[in-house]
Amino acid sequence: MNRRRFLGGLAATALCATARAQEGPRLSIQGVAFQAYPLFVSLYGEVASPEVEFESKSYRMLAISGGWRAVVPVSIDARGSHQLRVVSRGQTVAERSLSVKPRDYGMQYLSISPSTLASYDDPQNKADDEAILAAMKGVDDSQLWHGNWELPCQAPESTGFGQRRLYNGWKKGWHKGLDLAGWEGQAITAPADGRVIHKARGIVNGNTLVLSHGLGVFSVYFHMNSFAVGMGQSVSRGQQIGSVGGTGGFAPHLHWETRCFGGPVHPKAFLQLPADWR
Ligand SMILES: [Zn+2]
Repeated sequence: MNRRRFLGGLAATALCATARAQEGPRLSIQGVAFQAYPLFVSLYGEVASPEVEFESKSYRMLAISGGWRAVVPVSIDARGSHQLRVVSRGQTVAERSLSVKPRDYGMQYLSISPSTLASYDDPQNKADDEAILAAMKGVDDSQLWHGNWELPCQAPESTGFGQRRLYNGWKKGWHKGLDLAGWEGQAITAPADGRVIHKARGIVNGNTLVLSHGLGVFSVYFHMNSFAVGMGQSVSRGQQIGSVGGTGGFAPHLHWETRCFGGPVHPKAFLQLPADWR
């Protein structure tokens, strides 16, 4: 083959590949693929109601100007390579392979009274947790927060997020939130703009509040002493939503969770958001 024609052919093929890549939707994934961290997924281009498929679950993407976005949770047990796919009308329109990095969140060995341990398995406690997840089924379509989030209580961290737990040497669990050692009555403030979607008194969780921040992102507050907001109320970052307590039978502290479509993720990921997500 004539060498010049061969090279010309290669250049034409490369141009075609570039043109094709520009026609398809563009996938952007920000955040780190750590266990129990959120992935900030954007898709730019004209695509009909896309969904993200990751770890055998499906997440609806919400419309933004020029595309779509979703905050997808990586599960605490994920490890190794996982394919993230964006699917529209049954067709994969974009995909990427992610390598999930393990995090050593530590291990906690707890000795608690048999009656306290039994209350964890009480049907009422399970119902309390299910009611929280049910409240998270409704998703605010737009991103309600603006800017980085703030800690909801100005207090030192007493128990970190993600610790694996072994109760009385046999019962396994893990810490789905972050504990802040506030004093009884200390103000709890909204870490970001949002809306109150659940308010309850749980037998273990104590006084419970759940905020929706839009796009399937929620924050949860347990053991509160008092509430300062009502169901459905809109709240702004820094606004008081209640006070620290020990309801549910604990020493006073705030147990704070952040969840994406119900999946627990590290709250600190929201204190330093990717630039396009602030
Ligand atoms: Zn806690």
